[in-house]
Amino acid sequence: MESKRCFANRFDDYAGSLPAGQHHEAVVPWVAATIERILQQVPPLEGGLAAAAGGLYGGLAGMAYMLYHAARCPLLAPARDTYLRAARRLIDACVRYEEEWGEPDADTRAAFLLGGAGVYAVAALVYQALGLPDFGRLLGRFRELSQICAPVTFLECGSDELFVGRAGYLCAALVLKQKLGMETLTPGQIRSICQAILESGKQYAVKKRKPCPLMYSYYGTEYLGAAHGLSSILQMLLSYYEYLQPADQELVWQSIDFLMDQEQNSNWPPELGETIKRESELVHWCHGAPGIAYLFAKAYLISKKPQYLDTCIRCGELTWQKGLLKKGPGICHGVAGSAYVFLLLYRLTGNSKYIYRSQRFAEFLFTEEFKAGSRALENIYSLYEGFSGTVCFLIDLLQPNQAEFPLFSIFV
Ligand SMILES: [Zn+2]
Repeated sequence: MESKRCFANRFDDYAGSLPAGQHHEAVVPWVAATIERILQQVPPLEGGLAAAAGGLYGGLAGMAYMLYHAARCPLLAPARDTYLRAARRLIDACVRYEEEWGEPDADTRAAFLLGGAGVYAVAALVYQALGLPDFGRLLGRFRELSQICAPVTFLECGSDELFVGRAGYLCAALVLKQKLGMETLTPGQIRSICQAILESGKQYAVKKRKPCPLMYSYYGTEYLGAAHGLSSILQMLLSYYEYLQPADQELVWQSIDFLMDQEQNSNWPPELGETIKRESELVHWCHGAPGIAYLFAKAYLISKKPQYLDTCIRCGELTWQKGLLKKGPGICHGVAGSAYVFLLLYRLTGNSKYIYRSQRFAEFLFTEEFKAGSRALENIYSLYEGFSGTVCFLIDLLQPNQAEFPLFSIFV
């Protein structure tokens, strides 16, 4: 029976060698043409500042990040300046929006994927790439936001998750550290944000009598996945592992092992305690194995324990079966987000099978079956749901040794 969420994967699996062919020659022109097409969709930026809302997830800031990523790819070097100038134009509009409209909205000022922190981080990257002196001012604006997310309960809806909470703020700081080669926050700022995450998780777990030492909720739901859940919060704590006290490091490992025990046939339900029903199973970056894989990958890199790598490999097998999603080409709940798991596994194992699998998923994006059967996009330039994320994936497929899910690196 056809699944309502994914296309059947009819590709033969890897048979020991990659197909011969000029992969780069086909992909580079497609990437360049798609960027052109996305740029033509940009709404007018003058006056209508609303176009600059939406943050990195769905707004123009995400597109600016894609252009920055493209500008760093040697195979696209001739267009580097064009891409960076376009990125600056977009991110300037987003910064203006934050400075003129963002202030009253306390809920999204320190937000990574839906607000100010993500906008300032990407603005700093673009300005640094262009050699513009205002780069320091933008980093300063980013740094100031650390005060907003310091109180344990700074948001009513939940203060710790990735899109608007503290895990997101730490994730943005990690992106800056990786791309700029220096720490933006002071050790004291990092420690106090990690402490607030730990405190918040301990308090919630005690109050709600949870079997896990650290637990969180977002709008009343105890999410497990990368989008709003436990896995990306723990991933960020692991990313700043050396800033944690030994007793807190131990709580993080206990929580990771608790999450590992919640696995149901290589997947996780969106919410703690749910049973996965096969017909409505979510195999997305946002909810499910393709996003939770990054936590176990990070856990493996730090601990070198094989059970974490084995868990990642199972996530990859499920994604090969069920990852040709009908919700579009994007990275949040689309085909590119699935394919990024294979690029992750390639970097962890060096096994060419995963290059093969990511190439087949890329190929599927160009089929009539995909075009006819996938859901229409609300906006094609969105980094998470639209083609900006797909472009990032196809660029990463050209340079798999550096590939990483956009703004979500475990190799820092
Ligand atoms: Zn999603």
